[in-house]
Amino acid sequence: RPTVTFDNVSFGYDKDRQILHGLSFEAPAGAHIALVGPSGAGKSTIGRLLFRFYDPWEGRILIDGQDIREVTQESLRRAIGIVPQDSVLFNDTIGYNIEYGAPWGQGDPTPEAVRQAAADAAILPFIESLPNKFDTEVGERGLKLSGGEKQRVAIARTLLKDPPILLLDEATSALDSRTEQDILATLRNISCNRTTIAIAHRLSTIADADLINVMEAGRIVEQGSHNDLLRRD
Ligand code: ADP
Ligand code: ADP
Repeated sequence: RPTVTFDNVSFGYDKDRQILHGLSFEAPAGAHIALVGPSGAGKSTIGRLLFRFYDPWEGRILIDGQDIREVTQESLRRAIGIVPQDSVLFNDTIGYNIEYGAPWGQGDPTPEAVRQAAADAAILPFIESLPNKFDTEVGERGLKLSGGEKQRVAIARTLLKDPPILLLDEATSALDSRTEQDILATLRNISCNRTTIAIAHRLSTIADADLINVMEAGRIVEQGSHNDLLRRD
């Protein structure tokens, strides 16, 4: 599992408006870290830089010590699985949507095939937390599913690719807290050694992170465990 390092990263979408100001943090191999802060702090921008939708003005982003500018786009995409808040599902079955993410993809989304792939990727508990109906139609943009079901499908699809780095960009923020806790508990059980970066604005999402980075206006203003941060307040 790789280490992800942001080293003194500065960036803005426009020349005259800087968004990130010399930002540094590390997600050690296999750790679950969180980036938390108010809307507009620059959290999602970090994800876009990690994916190289943009490059930093200054500073470096490293995966296991290698600058991501030296990595091919293809291996970068293989290395990072991202789950956004509002995932796009295909107007097809749950099975098809999950299986789309599988390395062998788009063949035969029978429940058995999906379950076998999940077992191979060691994510069976996550698949089993889904409504057990892989041939259910999800509808246009997944609208026939509840928000929680939709995100479960999206997360399962991403996990099936077994990305060494998982980026959750407010992936559970829109759900009620019971559903959020269910999903997070399942995720924690099955991806305990996957390098995970969770972007969130709600503290309950990230209470169990190994390290929390608190962001404000493009800077990290505090770092620590949940307990460290509570003690300092
Ligand atoms: P967060 O995820 O913490 O809410 P973002 O990273 O989405 O914050 O946004 C940080 C700042 O960057 C905001 O002020 C936002 O308006 C600005 N921003 C985000 N995306 C773009 C873009 N594509 N073009 C210009 N400004 C943007
Ligand atoms: P795939 O590997 O399934 O073909 P892509 O290569 O298009 O998917 O994208 C890789 C990952 O990046 C996918 O998990 C997708 O959800 C995510 N992604 C693509 N574009 C965006 C975007 N604009 N914002 C957030 N996530 C994105």
